[in-house]
Amino acid sequence: MKSLITIDGPAGAGKSTVAHLLAKKLSYLYIDTGAMYRAITYYLIKQGIDYGDSEALKQALEKIDLHFQVIDGASVIFLNGKRCDEEIRQTMVNQHVSPVAKIVAVRLFLKKKQRDLAQSTSSVTEGRDIGTVVLPDADLKIFLTARPEIRAQRRWKELKEKGIDISYSDVLGNVIERDTIDSTRSEAPLRPADDALMVDTSDMSIEEVVNFLYQKAVD
Ligand code: C5P
Repeated sequence: MKSLITIDGPAGAGKSTVAHLLAKKLSYLYIDTGAMYRAITYYLIKQGIDYGDSEALKQALEKIDLHFQVIDGASVIFLNGKRCDEEIRQTMVNQHVSPVAKIVAVRLFLKKKQRDLAQSTSSVTEGRDIGTVVLPDADLKIFLTARPEIRAQRRWKELKEKGIDISYSDVLGNVIERDTIDSTRSEAPLRPADDALMVDTSDMSIEEVVNFLYQKAVD
């Protein structure tokens, strides 16, 4: 039985859904590290802190407490004791989260928090650099991928369901551009750990992926 599990991969590979369902099936804590980057970004915006000012940022990080609580079967993030799962999905946060996630002080702060949280219990931790940087000693490291066309298709469908009118070719262009930025950035570039289990979800249903990974976890 593997008790320290990591899931990394590009946007649209199905990471969040799979990580949430796998954690639920195993009765493990699900740690969504993207939500942690988002919560910090939300705090900085709300407090009007210029995150380019390293001293102001340092002081702000000292005041941030993040934790997860399971509510109705879902892992919900709390910022300084207040639930903030809806707030962190705002457009404003979407716009600022990537630059905030590039800051070394932010990454170091979250790396420690993520390690402490993940090792405090049995857990499934999901992100971009979990198997390579945060928990290189994990028992099972998974890297989920899917062809860019499939990931774009999933994203396009999601946006359409939200009433957002955008062409499929624009979404595909955006997916390919984000892949390049994520894999070539100097801070924690997106790449599989050398010993990661590579899973291409292009032609698999969510259920198939979760069942496959569950078997790997209990083996
Ligand atoms: O997964 P999600 O889209 O919510 O993540 C938000 C942002 O946080 C990503 O676009 C990425 O810039 C950053 N992130 C990161 N490292 C992680 C998780 C997220 O840099 N482990």
